[in-house]
Amino acid sequence: MVYLDHHATTPLDPRVLAAMMPYLTGKFGNAASRNHKFGWEAEQAVDESRKQIARLIGASPREIIFTSGATESDNLAIKGVAEAYAGQGDHVITCAIEHKAVLDVCRKLEQRGARVTRLPVGRDGLVDPGAMEAAIGERTVLVSIMYANNEVGAIQPVAEIGRICRERGVLFHSDAAQAVGKVPVDVDADYIDLLSISAHKMYGPKGAGALYVRRRDPRVQLTAQMDGGGHERGMRSGTLNVPGIVGLGEACAICGREMDEESARLRRLRDRLRAKLEAELEEVSINGSMEHRLPHNLNMSFAYVEAESLMMAMSGVAVSSGSACTSATMEPSYVLRAMGVADDAARTSIRFGLGRFNTEEEVDYAAASAIEAVKSLRELSPLYDMAKGGKWFK
Ligand SMILES: *Cc1c(COP(=O)(O)O)cnc(C)c1O
Repeated sequence: MVYLDHHATTPLDPRVLAAMMPYLTGKFGNAASRNHKFGWEAEQAVDESRKQIARLIGASPREIIFTSGATESDNLAIKGVAEAYAGQGDHVITCAIEHKAVLDVCRKLEQRGARVTRLPVGRDGLVDPGAMEAAIGERTVLVSIMYANNEVGAIQPVAEIGRICRERGVLFHSDAAQAVGKVPVDVDADYIDLLSISAHKMYGPKGAGALYVRRRDPRVQLTAQMDGGGHERGMRSGTLNVPGIVGLGEACAICGREMDEESARLRRLRDRLRAKLEAELEEVSINGSMEHRLPHNLNMSFAYVEAESLMMAMSGVAVSSGSACTSATMEPSYVLRAMGVADDAARTSIRFGLGRFNTEEEVDYAAASAIEAVKSLRELSPLYDMAKGGKWFK
């Protein structure tokens, strides 16, 4: 089975596992234990991870708060800021194609009385920074715009958005679960105040993540969402997941060293996949910008072919569709819908997400498999036949 669903999760890099292993076995100490070597050892490992993460995003180690993943980081960032700054305002700006971990948190804030603006995106999947600026008002406390989208790979104009937020005195949070380790991220150059990170999207373990929280110019205040022993400077209580944290740190170190080469390789493979599909199939279209896009992402619509049938026919390839099978109805992706993709086209969309361990042979196999599946499904499609003025309707 060829795995091309790296936006959903990535396999653990064996080097990451090797770094974690001692902390799953002999070095089992609690990083908060101050009285013996077991604790010191764990604390030292946690400190090293903080440095590794900070280095990858241009932060200082003291600005890294460990969490269970990007969902928790998004919750802590958005709810934490909304509560801490409630005296200054109650308006949050986000965009229509955020991950549910941001959209559902914003909906919760709305239920608690806050006001939320959801910016539209263009056909390319990008937010217009001018529209963002126009939405800022007296009561705006936070802008939350993702770094890169998990369905179409669109990379937002983060630095521009961040610069405007800084000028206007509004905090800027970015969900960077899909971007960190894949494209260069620098919290200073991008004027980011809070940044969500997930280990399992970057060849680290599941259940580990981090939130970057700026400490200077401006110093961000956060209300904790998890109360208890006061870990992580009181922002996130709970015994630290030392093996997970060590894994996240090692994953960051590897990405930092290998990102340039890996991005170039995956971009070449992604473009190869695209070229093969476009050469062999008619009536295919790409969703989202090719220019401002993660190098390992391809999202394509195959007219007349339902994504679910296509995935079934491509049984040797793991990909994802733009639609979510909820109950009996097939809801087209809200991301594609927000981009103005027609429901019909959205229902035929497939997301290909390439990753570190994919080979050229695997990509060629996936391309051949998709081409064969699309051709045979179209053979069976009366709609396709009719569109081609075909035999059934003569
Ligand atoms: C995967 C993902 C999340 C959720 O991350 P978890 O670590 O699984 O909680 C949030 N945002 C984006 C953009 C993602 O891709």
